[in-house]
Amino acid sequence: MSSPPRVLFVTSEIAPWQKTGGLGDISAALPGALAQAGVDVRILVPAYPALTSAFPEAGVIAAIPPPGGRFPAGRLLAASTDAEVPLLLLDCPEYFARPGGPYQSPHRRDWPDNALRFGLLSRVAALLASDASPLSWRPDILHCNDWQSGLAPAYLHYLHPGAAAATVMTIHNLAFQGLFPAQRLADLGLPEEAFVFDGVEFHGQLSFLKAGLQFADRITTVSRTYAQEIQQAELGFGLDGLLRHRSADLTGILNGVEASWNPATDPLLAQRYDARHLADKAANRQALRRELGLEETAAWPLMAIVSRLTHQKGVDLVLAVAEELLAGPPGAQLAVLGTGEREFEAGFRMLAARHPGKVAAVIGFDERLAHRFEAGADIFLMPSRFEPCGLNQMYSLRYGTPPVVRATGGLADTVVDCTAQTLAAGSANGFAFGPADAASLLAAVRRAGDAWHRSKLWRRLQKNGMAADFSWDKAAADYADIYRTMHSAEA
Ligand code: ADP
Repeated sequence: MSSPPRVLFVTSEIAPWQKTGGLGDISAALPGALAQAGVDVRILVPAYPALTSAFPEAGVIAAIPPPGGRFPAGRLLAASTDAEVPLLLLDCPEYFARPGGPYQSPHRRDWPDNALRFGLLSRVAALLASDASPLSWRPDILHCNDWQSGLAPAYLHYLHPGAAAATVMTIHNLAFQGLFPAQRLADLGLPEEAFVFDGVEFHGQLSFLKAGLQFADRITTVSRTYAQEIQQAELGFGLDGLLRHRSADLTGILNGVEASWNPATDPLLAQRYDARHLADKAANRQALRRELGLEETAAWPLMAIVSRLTHQKGVDLVLAVAEELLAGPPGAQLAVLGTGEREFEAGFRMLAARHPGKVAAVIGFDERLAHRFEAGADIFLMPSRFEPCGLNQMYSLRYGTPPVVRATGGLADTVVDCTAQTLAAGSANGFAFGPADAASLLAAVRRAGDAWHRSKLWRRLQKNGMAADFSWDKAAADYADIYRTMHSAEA
């Protein structure tokens, strides 16, 4: 039997220490599940302050001399996650020891040197996969995630052409591409010949993500529907042609959900419950209403949003129909938890001010409150314009909180619209609509509101959703299959 594949999983965020969205959650969960599936996996992530303070005992295991371009020297520190996956922290205080988020200052401006910061992450990833690595552990597969590590396959191609490692590029969100001015090429230590159509060039700029898609051996994304959608102009963000060209190497693997998102064991809930004790969910609704200052009433369902407040997430559609949605028929309360574009934050704040007791807007990022929202809400709204996978609709399904979604990407792959047929088949678990417009959203929300008033039907929807298997083991098995195919192809 051949040895298990050695995989270096490269990421720019990892929960709970540094997270701006789904990638942080995935980086926290997938490597542990891969290790369980027999993969020898390590994680490479920048040593942000949150990580260096979480792992004060992390020791230096290698020095990284300046790897070309304008890059400074760095070091690798070694730590380990709770799941005992080794963590390699890329320590370069000049780049990563900063306040704010991984990509932005505390004033929410992109760091002006992001090309260099994540160029270094990519550069070091490629180095660790090459014969020039300072470590004796050498990956068979370099698994890159999103634009921040997208340049790694290009570095391997141009700077370490003989390297044995194969590369996987995972797209968590094609909208973020890491586009920088062409002049950055030399700073990044890439040769001039790289700035071509079948290299790192993209419409006169340098694109990290395109580089990854061009040079990686395999490409994955986080749902089957999204894998199809990104090959079309509408959601291809200019990369649909390249993705169609690479179609044979492109696979969609749905993300899993962490085991901690389970209403039967969740310590953050007012009352735990499962599919056989759904009546206990009501105590969570009551607690959430009290916490948010919402009226306690049996007249309307409580609808909830937990989201980045951005155009992608379709929150403008909710604002557009909010008055009609609240007034009914059938009427609703609305609770929102999110941060994002100021216009939408202000929109929800004003809506809450106009409807005290009926609308609550919590503008902020609060993971613990997100659990109470999922448990306390009756209906979850997620009208995304596009959604590579989406986690919140899966949390909602698990928490017996049927979601109303736009049928796109991972939402289309997880939410089964309630119709006579899907009810008869026992698969209906929520509400889905097609066109990304306010009228279609309103029609779907009304269907959900009507269904909520029919308690037997509602119970069936809840139970169908709670029965779904969104375990990481399933996703990890699919990634491990890809690694093994690549590994044996090389051997
Ligand atoms: P994306 O990665 O596009 O933001 P996902 O649904 O894939 O969307 O993942 C979002 C993750 O971030 C989920 O874990 C969700 O609960 C969380 N989240 C988003 N906004 C907030 C918020 N304001 N407070 C708490 N958690 C949030």
